[in-house]
Amino acid sequence: MSHVKSYAAKEPSSPLAPFDFDRRELRSKDIQIEIDYCGVCHSDLHTARNEWKMTSYPCVPGHEIVGRVVQVGELVKEFKEGDIVAVGCLVDSCRHCPSCKENLEQYCEEGAIQTYNGRDKKDHSVTYGGYSTQIVVDEKFVLHVPKEFSQQELPGVAPLLCAGITTYSPLKNWKIGKGSKVGVVGLGGLGHMAIKIAHAMGAEVILFTTSPGKIEDAKRLGAKEAVVSKEMSAMKKHAKSLDFILDTVAASHPLDPYLELLKRDGVMCLLGVPENLHPAPNVTKLIFYRRQIAGSLIGGLKETQEMLDFCAQHKITADIELIAIDKINEAYERMLKGDVKYRFVIDNATLKN
Ligand SMILES: [Zn+2]
Ligand SMILES: [Zn+2]
Repeated sequence: MSHVKSYAAKEPSSPLAPFDFDRRELRSKDIQIEIDYCGVCHSDLHTARNEWKMTSYPCVPGHEIVGRVVQVGELVKEFKEGDIVAVGCLVDSCRHCPSCKENLEQYCEEGAIQTYNGRDKKDHSVTYGGYSTQIVVDEKFVLHVPKEFSQQELPGVAPLLCAGITTYSPLKNWKIGKGSKVGVVGLGGLGHMAIKIAHAMGAEVILFTTSPGKIEDAKRLGAKEAVVSKEMSAMKKHAKSLDFILDTVAASHPLDPYLELLKRDGVMCLLGVPENLHPAPNVTKLIFYRRQIAGSLIGGLKETQEMLDFCAQHKITADIELIAIDKINEAYERMLKGDVKYRFVIDNATLKN
């Protein structure tokens, strides 16, 4: 067992604070990882504050993990000490249901085990995430960080493990590439990854935002154009022209203005879970052009590795602000105000002080 330092929420209303605990003894296929960086995802905040009403306390969030292998179990084949590795949102699944057999562990029919606030299948302990100095994970759920990424780029690699794969997976599933015209709704952690990845896939990307201040940044990230969604004439210009829309906005909002922008057979894919439902879409807008509304959840392990390799090849990392762990509560408050470009990442070395 290894004694680790972390930051945890002890109850819904308390700020995150130092918490020491023991990581499990290595099982035969386990890998022990010294965590260097961990991205800060909106789900971390929702879970720490029990906004989804299913948090076990204490709660150690964090599922955008990059680090180094320090020890491997006796049957581990794919990894060795010193490897730079990553862990995303999942640390286990049933491994025998149809989804698991198709490498879609995120849709495991028995429920995949989340990196934090999950329950280990063997010892039934609550899983603790990446706001900690080390983590122990079965090798099937560990990813290789491609060697093309330099040491300096590693903090920006961490958000690929949730924000990156959440946008990559639907773009792949709906076969986005050269010749596709893609709309991205919202420019935050997910939106900025969606622009970079869709652009790298060869698509023409249009960003839709409520903030005029984000237009220049969208273009810098790879969007051909950015549209303020409240400007009706600017919206009209793109009517019936998009093949695909990635809607990254979690707040409740009308979907109809975006459905209008889809071509026949176009798909609007939702990535955010709104606290209050979106207004029901106008069904006529779906029927007349055979449009579809869809959803998508992170990605499986195979596809997450593919995404990391793709990002390495196209030199894609997240735009981040590196923080010390004692700034995490401040970071949560700033995240709620949208005051981050575009992801906070924890420098886990600061947990040791
Ligand atoms: Zn996340
Ligand atoms: Zn399964």
